[in-house]
Amino acid sequence: MNTDEIKQLNDNHIINTYGARKMALVRGEGMKLWDADGKEYLDFFAGIAVANLGHCHPAVTDAICKQAHTLVHVSNLYYIEPQVKLAALLCKHSFADRWFFCNGGAEANEAALKIARRYWAEKGTPKPVLLSTHQSFHGRTMATITATGQPKYQKGFEPLMPGIRHIEYDDVAALEAALTPDVGAVILEPIQGEGGVRVPDPGYLAKVRALCTSKNVLLIFDEVQTGLGRTGKLFAYEHYGVKPDIMTLAKGLGNGVPIGAMGCTKEVASGFAPGSHACTFGGNPLSTAAAVATMTALTAPGFIEGAARTGAYFFDKLDTLAAKYSQIVEVRGKGLMIGIEMKDPVAPVIEKLLDAGIVCGPAGPNVLRFIPPLIVTTADIDRVVSILDGILGGA
Ligand SMILES: *Cc1c(COP(=O)(O)O)cnc(C)c1O
Repeated sequence: MNTDEIKQLNDNHIINTYGARKMALVRGEGMKLWDADGKEYLDFFAGIAVANLGHCHPAVTDAICKQAHTLVHVSNLYYIEPQVKLAALLCKHSFADRWFFCNGGAEANEAALKIARRYWAEKGTPKPVLLSTHQSFHGRTMATITATGQPKYQKGFEPLMPGIRHIEYDDVAALEAALTPDVGAVILEPIQGEGGVRVPDPGYLAKVRALCTSKNVLLIFDEVQTGLGRTGKLFAYEHYGVKPDIMTLAKGLGNGVPIGAMGCTKEVASGFAPGSHACTFGGNPLSTAAAVATMTALTAPGFIEGAARTGAYFFDKLDTLAAKYSQIVEVRGKGLMIGIEMKDPVAPVIEKLLDAGIVCGPAGPNVLRFIPPLIVTTADIDRVVSILDGILGGA
């Protein structure tokens, strides 16, 4: 089918939650994508921080094919070999001792919020209130839109879930003031993604950790976007020398195969018992086989360090652009999670980048977001920066 034919079918049969789009991408390889009319693109969005290893990474594709020929699905009534392998890998490379698998970021956050409440209830000291931050994004289920600190995601879905309060992000005093005895957990993104690629003060997370520890409150890091190498470490919390009690993952975990995960300490894991929580597809053989291959490639010696160096190169080039154009308010982020705040809405810039064969996206109306596959090269970056230079210079 060509783009027009795909668009026609879409408009006739798909609920319009995503609006009109420019193209239909039908094939990918590494940094490259092709649309239904044969046009080639360089991908600086990775399907929203998902294809961290690049499109159709051979090891992941191989693992998917092998597993598809072996066993696609069984229920969690039975042990699942790739699932336990994935959990062991995630334990080896993170603070967490135990994992629960599901299908995406919102479900992972649901599991995190549920285990936090259940943990305190099981202890006989219920502390049902959950603190979240303004400008955060945690997903689109009823509980996670409630946690999400942006009214645009909540409008018309009221009543929202009770027991979730919001505080300013990157504001230790606000957290301290909000830590009443009924607060059981705090959820936040180490760097806010959808909220505009907002990087907190370097000392913020350590202070949050210290406060949570002293007040006996569970700390949940939503690493759905920042995790899996995106910020130049496997998990963003590693930059700050702090560990949460609970962490959620999704986006990059299967390099494109849908999967979510909630990991926690052994102590917090005791909050769930048989029957407390479940997920039909959670941790199924196909998705976990893909995630094992993804984790293996991501943790290969030097891979993420390389991506961190490429990210530093990108920041350097963008800082030069920012010095040249007053249109750019700020370049911020970490590793290969980059937001460029502009004075004006970025939609026209994104449109021009697309016309020039560069796929990227926004993070809010005024922030241009680059979240390329971690295999991006300095040559790819030079090309994008030169095209952006041309666009901002009015060429
Ligand atoms: C994308 C995202 C989610 C939601 O993930 P879904 O897989 O779309 O449910 C949650 N938290 C953060 C930080 C995200 O970036």
